[in-house]
Amino acid sequence: MKRRTFLAATTAVAATALVNPAFAQVNDNPLLQAWTGPFSGVPAFDKVRVEDFKPALEAAMAENLAEVQAIADQRTVPTFENTIAALENTGRRLSDLYTYYGIWGSNMSSPAFQAVETEMDPRLAEFGDKITQNEALFRRIEAVYNSVDKPSLTPEQQRLTWLYYTNFVRAGAALEAPQKARIAQINQRLASLYTSFSQNLLHDEEAYVHWLKTADLKGLPQSVIDGAAAAAAERGRRGEYAILNTRSSMEPFLTYSDRRDLREKVWRTYYARGDNGDQWDNNKIIAEILALRAERAKILGYPTHAHWRLENAMAKTPERAMELMEAVWTPAVAAVRADVAEMQTIADAEGAKIKIEPWDYRYYMEKVRKAKYDLDLNEVKPYLQLDKLRDGMFWAAGQLYGLQFKPVSGLPVFHPDVTTWEVTDAAGRHVGLWYFDPYARQGKRSGAWMNAYRTQENFLRPVTTIVSNNSNFVKGAPGEPVLLSWDDAVTMFHEFGHALHGLLSKVSYPSLSGTAVPRDYVEFPSQLNEHWFPTQEVLSRFATHYRTGQPIPQALVDKIKKTDTFNQGFATTEYLASALIDMKLHLAGAAPIDPDRFEREELARLGMPSEIVMRHRTPQFGHVFSSDGYSAGYYSYLWSDTLTADVAEAFKEAPGGYYDKVVAQRLHDTIMSRGNSIDPADQFRAFRGRDPDIGALMRDRGFPYGG
Ligand SMILES: [Zn+2]
Repeated sequence: MKRRTFLAATTAVAATALVNPAFAQVNDNPLLQAWTGPFSGVPAFDKVRVEDFKPALEAAMAENLAEVQAIADQRTVPTFENTIAALENTGRRLSDLYTYYGIWGSNMSSPAFQAVETEMDPRLAEFGDKITQNEALFRRIEAVYNSVDKPSLTPEQQRLTWLYYTNFVRAGAALEAPQKARIAQINQRLASLYTSFSQNLLHDEEAYVHWLKTADLKGLPQSVIDGAAAAAAERGRRGEYAILNTRSSMEPFLTYSDRRDLREKVWRTYYARGDNGDQWDNNKIIAEILALRAERAKILGYPTHAHWRLENAMAKTPERAMELMEAVWTPAVAAVRADVAEMQTIADAEGAKIKIEPWDYRYYMEKVRKAKYDLDLNEVKPYLQLDKLRDGMFWAAGQLYGLQFKPVSGLPVFHPDVTTWEVTDAAGRHVGLWYFDPYARQGKRSGAWMNAYRTQENFLRPVTTIVSNNSNFVKGAPGEPVLLSWDDAVTMFHEFGHALHGLLSKVSYPSLSGTAVPRDYVEFPSQLNEHWFPTQEVLSRFATHYRTGQPIPQALVDKIKKTDTFNQGFATTEYLASALIDMKLHLAGAAPIDPDRFEREELARLGMPSEIVMRHRTPQFGHVFSSDGYSAGYYSYLWSDTLTADVAEAFKEAPGGYYDKVVAQRLHDTIMSRGNSIDPADQFRAFRGRDPDIGALMRDRGFPYGG
């Protein structure tokens, strides 16, 4: 997921340096310098100083506005080249600067940088509106869009023109002046609220640490203990153990700790993020965000924010997204009820004298796994070494797409943990660069994400595509390899799928490149890539024991395969609860909302099992409230997974299975290389020969499906 989404008009970049006074004064600012060095220039991460951000942003925004104004002021008849293509070539310096800005916001945050964000985010929103509300510019875009010459443009040029036109209209370009002013006001206020929301969340993830003594570690596997010891040492408390308030720390603790009292404490702290009634509480912020989004949608002519957001998504309407979610909800909840019954049986047999609560779920599910499948995931972990699995990921991409990865040294990085890799194709031709920032640390937001530092394009000249993967794996003890959980390994393949989508892009224009696709389509290449991790080919070569070097035993792999659909009830229900609440919050219109109460009442109405909570409770739902990004869009993962499961079946049906060369080539040609240059529904049809079928998704999750 990319944190910042700017309008198409501001994503591209400017080679033509229009000199303006603001820029001349600050042109020794390192953040404004063109990227230099190998690979048509790389980000100068070693030159970044927080105090340079504000003057750099001011200068780059001014420069970008001047470039855009020059296009708007032309007297010539508007054409694709002098208007749309010209816009694709503006804002290049700002785009490079956003790469630094995004990283210092997500990977390298600090109080000093947060102050910059607080000041600059509303001004960046204002800047975006100055472009979309530029009347003369919009008239030119509209003229190209309605031009009789449009059929003579290439299909990609026509799609780009459509994208600019609809993005401008959807941002309010066609409104009257007072309405435009109100939209701009709303966007600036929202930008401030998003920043506060994210900063509060980061605070609550970093401010709470559970300090444990040796006696508190009962049940925890050695790898979790080592991670907790390292986290404590990093915080200056050697000899103790720190359980952090992040997902990667919370999940293994809840899975393995025998201490029910501590499980409850860790659980409560984690799910109270942003909801503690203190100065970092997000509830008021959320209520205001929802009200402003509802008002903005009305001004723009849509019934609700959800309708506005979904118009250009693959789903098109909230109703279609709801229909899919509701179809999956009922079997998912039924699976949870069946699983809980099995857990309760185990707890009763142990004489635990408890009713399964949310902080027991992962713990007893693990016991069910052991009892039913004789599978202990701790037996698996010693085979899941970060470095080896990374090589496995590279290897699978080599088999599928012919890509090769080799480490490059000497490129500037923003932290010593970051490694850099050159990507080449089967013929040894340069494809791009991949940066990898794997470990959790202070100032880095939780979760995992992909980022494009420079997107692929070709309309003026080829550039080096630069993408990155970021995650929060917990470093092991010094000198020991980093061992991943099964889920962490899946996540790593997931994010790498986004990276491949960026790297394999072969389009002309940057606004249509790589992962710049609708939200409910973007998770499809990444989810699909998860399917290569558990293949025999990857496991037998790359899942090797960190001490003995022996490959993972076949019997263990067989056991894992048997648990394919294990715990899908939990995974699907916790996800869907979040996705449904997100959609309902944004379908509720202008009625004032108390987020805690709304969540409670709607979940009761849905029949949410009491043993589970939403994967992201509303006060910590960064996907939805740290930007417009995934707002009314968390359903996208399920929508994408419908496509994913269907395409995965195409591989399974092929003679070569997941490594079938013909299917892989077709995937590359119809989907992975196309970016947003072709409508996603058409991309899917070109691959599969038909529209997506929900049956594959239901089979993949082990839910009954008759259709
Ligand atoms: Zn993703």
